[in-house]
Amino acid sequence: MRLVLLGPPGAGKGTQARMLAERFGAAHVASGDLLRTAVKEKTPLGLEAKSYMDRGALVPDELVLKLIQEHLDSANGGRGFILDGFPRSVSQAEALNRMLKGRGVSIDKVIAIIVPDSEIIKRISGRRTCRNCGAMYHVIFDPPRNPGICNECNGELYQREDDAEDTVRMRLEVYAAETKPLLEYYRRAGLLVEVNGVGRPEEIQEQILAALGGENAKVRDARIK
Ligand code: AMP
Repeated sequence: MRLVLLGPPGAGKGTQARMLAERFGAAHVASGDLLRTAVKEKTPLGLEAKSYMDRGALVPDELVLKLIQEHLDSANGGRGFILDGFPRSVSQAEALNRMLKGRGVSIDKVIAIIVPDSEIIKRISGRRTCRNCGAMYHVIFDPPRNPGICNECNGELYQREDDAEDTVRMRLEVYAAETKPLLEYYRRAGLLVEVNGVGRPEEIQEQILAALGGENAKVRDARIK
């Protein structure tokens, strides 16, 4: 299963990608998580990426492509991948096509999670992320069992710097200008599926699985054999 998840920040791509990766045994490749790890570890790439991320701008392609390339190589031998947060522009989508072509594989579907801007601001301003494992919570809609502590790994929860309201507005502008054109790009390629991203994560997952239809059944059958 090789999928791309598209959608504005806060659409729930990470949550859906994690659920899909688990279901299909695929690798979850999240460009934002990979970049945040590089920043935390202060690698040269992380140091260069940080200033772009802090202001909600896109990190230059050459840095992102390098990270994705490494992770696709490690994911390629397994049961495919769920790309979350990449590609984020037409130039990245074209780079992805070249990478996949070189590996003799292609994307099965692109899932766009549609959520209105007003809902996004509400979601992201209450979002808290685990410093250790990246799990996400919401102070009102999905609070952790113990305030400030991750249910999964007891890590510390924090508010990402780029989740501050002004930066979120900037990220939404970047999404509209750079990433939204990808919907048309993948629609033309016959790969796009749109799902309504307002609702409980399980309901949204159901819509995605229904949209995957045949592919979903194929994977299930392959697992039974
Ligand atoms: P995310 O966790 O996907 O919301 O990403 C957080 C930040 O990481 C973004 O606002 C960008 O600064 C950077 N980033 C993540 N993925 C990409 C990408 N594919 N291309 C450029 N920058 C990215």
